[in-house]
Amino acid sequence: MTFLFNSDAARGRIFQDAFAREIPDLPFSMDPATVDPEQVRYLMTWTVPENLARYRNLEVLFSTGAGIDQFRAASVPDEVKIVRMVEEGIVRMMQEYAVLGVLSLHRNLPAYLAQQQAEVWKVLPQAQAAERRIGVLGLGNLGQAVLERLKPFGFPLSGWSRSAREIEGVRCFSGEDGLKAMVAATDVLICLLPLTDETRGFLDAELFASLPAGAGLVHVGRGPQLDQDALLAALDSGHMSGAVIDVTDPEPLPPGHPFWRHPRILLTPHIASITQPHTAARAVIDNINRLRAGLDPVGLVDRQRGY
Ligand code: NAP
Repeated sequence: MTFLFNSDAARGRIFQDAFAREIPDLPFSMDPATVDPEQVRYLMTWTVPENLARYRNLEVLFSTGAGIDQFRAASVPDEVKIVRMVEEGIVRMMQEYAVLGVLSLHRNLPAYLAQQQAEVWKVLPQAQAAERRIGVLGLGNLGQAVLERLKPFGFPLSGWSRSAREIEGVRCFSGEDGLKAMVAATDVLICLLPLTDETRGFLDAELFASLPAGAGLVHVGRGPQLDQDALLAALDSGHMSGAVIDVTDPEPLPPGHPFWRHPRILLTPHIASITQPHTAARAVIDNINRLRAGLDPVGLVDRQRGY
């Protein structure tokens, strides 16, 4: 029984040390060429290797990241469990980025950056936090953590998910009617949905038109969820005031793409949140212990739902 780590070596060494310390009875390898494929029970990777079929006794496919859309789950045998990365480093970084995005839009940063470029010293109207309604799409691990971190600022907070939820201090919505109600009362929309067949193209012209005039977007889900032309149209018409975009389709964005130089877009290269190897190793070891105890791992993907 072997744990095969298929990612960069520097991170792998951190995992290797943690495994040696905490679960020394489980052989750990970073080199597929030297392991007996039949011995591989656990594989940790970002994408599914083309030769996955050689790991005939594979039980669990661990994603190195929080999403699993890159796996194209249909290519993974049904009996193999797929586990996304749930670890505190990702959560902490996403909380930071969401606060950065919300405050940037709340405090007119795109407009002030444009004024700086033009050497313009001009005070713009400023709404107070209590007047800036934040709506989060996706109330999972990250959506909830982001809302928690936003609480002290005093923004009215809402969130939307597939199933109904109750979160203290947050107006929770679900279902199609819930989406309409939340979006109509959201000044900064944060997308933290996983990429599935249902969420592809989710951030579209209709949704943007339903936002109140002057609303902004913080997009930290996945690139293919966003209709880029619809966003550009909503920004250029003045209906939307700004967007903080961390994920695009494709990544990287090609040269000359309108997002690069758009005065109302703050663009970052998919860095909102990155798996932190020390805390991630802890989380994976905990999951192996759970599996050994006959429990479901934390972050087990529901293959039907696709996340
Ligand atoms: P999660 O715990 O699985 O939560 C997903 C949430 O989305 C749940 O609340 C779920 O509803 C909701 N949802 C999914 N499909 C839906 C649908 N069709 N309609 C309504 N709600 C739906 O995921 P997470 O750990 O919070 O991560 C969310 C995503 O963030 C990841 O999948 C990844 O794409 C993205 N991410 C981005 C970065 C970055 O650096 N930009 C880093 C990490 C993660 P239920 O509660 O009803 O299940």
